[in-house]
Amino acid sequence: ALLEADRRVDSGCPYCGVGCQLTYHVKDGKIVKVTGRDGPANHGRLCVKGRYGFDYPAHRQRLTQPLIRKPGIAKDPQGELDPADPLAAFRPASWEEALDFAADGLKRIIAEHGKHALAGFGSAKGSNEEAYLFQKLVRTGFGTNNVDHCTRLCHASSVVALLEGVGSGAVSNPVADVQHAEVVVVIGSNPIVNHPVAATFIKNAVKKGTTQLILMDPRRTELARHAAYHLPFRPDSDVALLNALLHVIVTEGLVDEEFVRLRTENYEALKQNVLAYSPEAMAPICGIDARTLREVARLYARSRASMILWGMGVSQHVHGTDNVRCLIALAMVTGQIGRPGTGLHPLRGQNNVQGASDVGLIPMCFPDYLRVDDEAARAKFERLWGVPLDGQPGLTVVEIIDAACAGRIKGMYIEGENPAMSDPNSNHAREGLASLEHLIVQDLFMTETAYFADVILPASAYAEKTGTFTNTDRIVQIGRQAVTPPGEARQDLWIIQEIARRLGLDWNYQGPREVFEEMRSAMPSIAGISWERLEREGHVTYPCASETDPGQPVIFTERFPTPSGRARIVPADIIPADERPDADYPLVLITGRQLEHWHTGSMTRRASVLDAIEPAPTVSVHPLDLEGIGAEAGDVLTVESRRGRIALFARADDGIPRGSVFIPFCYYEAAANRLTNQALDPYAKIAELKYCAVRVRKG
Ligand code: SF4
Repeated sequence: ALLEADRRVDSGCPYCGVGCQLTYHVKDGKIVKVTGRDGPANHGRLCVKGRYGFDYPAHRQRLTQPLIRKPGIAKDPQGELDPADPLAAFRPASWEEALDFAADGLKRIIAEHGKHALAGFGSAKGSNEEAYLFQKLVRTGFGTNNVDHCTRLCHASSVVALLEGVGSGAVSNPVADVQHAEVVVVIGSNPIVNHPVAATFIKNAVKKGTTQLILMDPRRTELARHAAYHLPFRPDSDVALLNALLHVIVTEGLVDEEFVRLRTENYEALKQNVLAYSPEAMAPICGIDARTLREVARLYARSRASMILWGMGVSQHVHGTDNVRCLIALAMVTGQIGRPGTGLHPLRGQNNVQGASDVGLIPMCFPDYLRVDDEAARAKFERLWGVPLDGQPGLTVVEIIDAACAGRIKGMYIEGENPAMSDPNSNHAREGLASLEHLIVQDLFMTETAYFADVILPASAYAEKTGTFTNTDRIVQIGRQAVTPPGEARQDLWIIQEIARRLGLDWNYQGPREVFEEMRSAMPSIAGISWERLEREGHVTYPCASETDPGQPVIFTERFPTPSGRARIVPADIIPADERPDADYPLVLITGRQLEHWHTGSMTRRASVLDAIEPAPTVSVHPLDLEGIGAEAGDVLTVESRRGRIALFARADDGIPRGSVFIPFCYYEAAANRLTNQALDPYAKIAELKYCAVRVRKG
């Protein structure tokens, strides 16, 4: 009876891109329970984060009033938040004063250094409407395209390769399509941990006996128990592995000749390229024997329907775009696309990283991926927004931080992102943040990034506002407000709009529905999705051209949205990681997430159940490697790279490949990104977060 709710609000999960629908049970203005709803991506299921990670909005550390940095308090790039008094460097301010201070700083930088001295990071955790307004503010109020978000560190390489190859950066088939697949390939992804409810669809398909799973991952994760084949290829050998599979398909007559002839271009270039990549030649490089490579290639190519899902193990490399080009080539040469149970699915990380990218929260594109350097696209948005727009693609996340370190970016507005924790080589990122003349941070908590702020604007949590969100399957759904923000914390849409008004923009949106209507008018992909329809039907999949279009879960059925209507196959060659292990730093660091925590931990480490399950930072090491350094599970280890050093507890895990260690990046007290390398993939500008050289010692 204590937990008997007085209200129930149907909404969604604030964490991952699976996009589970749920119900918040509210009592006395607080969420007391969460239950799953029968949404298209979860069928009533929730993982531990969705079910138990609901109490962070009520945490005592919530920011409840605007804050301005006290005069004379320097920003120390080596400094840390003082847990006893994290707000020591700030004084409380009224909203009026804080917003004026924020906007005046932006105006001063434009006047003194020009519009391109400003940049903004929006959030993949905010709604589509928030992301749309944020990028519109940077483009029309700041006057620059220097706007990006965490997709740059997540699937930017997937999007670049997909746009180049098939003309659309989104998934071709939903996760639930695995039930129609005879073969499912999961590569560079640990969905049981990172997309837990999506993993249940994969496991159930295998259990039915009609689907075979091929897991390709250097780590032997729990999903390997369900796999017909687990290929623990060497970290960094993705292209060798995938080109070997392509070699088998091309040389053993497994190519779908008709599909290749009618629906693709550039096949001959791929064919010539992969001839040099025989399984026998690649086996010593990728660590998988030639016979297994041949069996797996045949299995994938010959099945009635084969589907590929991948994660950041594929995308976060200096050759991330090349890795995805190989996956696209696999689907194209075998015709495994355009039907249920086939296709290409980059599993999205954040709950709205798909939607935030779709609505233009990226530096090179307006909403619906219209290039900013395309004159017709620019003219369209100049008409819609009523101001001249810049035609140069802006800087990306890592480039913005580099430019801040170099003194070219002087001011930033960061909404709901934590680059001091999430950016590669975070000591470098912190130097960049510390060197800014003016930093506005809008967030729920005093994050490691807010530590460097000049003004902090207290924002609202997922359950405190209403908006639309787009999941990994391209399904648009509504998240509804269940509780009110604490103290003087405000809804993000209101805050963005107040900054815009102070920069001279005449905005007067009366809530998310009005913003959504403007998005619809600008984006043909969602033209058929009205707010009323979302309320009525609960979810709609884009592309959706009209109110009578049911939406299209499976795309590319007849043509690709490329200029020629055909897919472009792009060959790739082996490029080594930027920093290989050597005598000084002999081990490989792989970073990632763990089941109970989300990204930089600002939410889940303040969710009581999740924090109780996983309260401390750990490094997972193979037991024999642990023995080699004279340590045991539970010992404190120091892990060091050329960029930084952290101390964590050892966890023995015989699924970790010998010579590698794995660290989740959610712990501020042992931030994994103090170690990582900011080297970039040249096409997508994604950083090599999945590979750098480290050394480990006990103590
Ligand atoms: Fe939330 Fe993702 Fe878990 Fe679903 S799978 S409950 S969306 S974290």
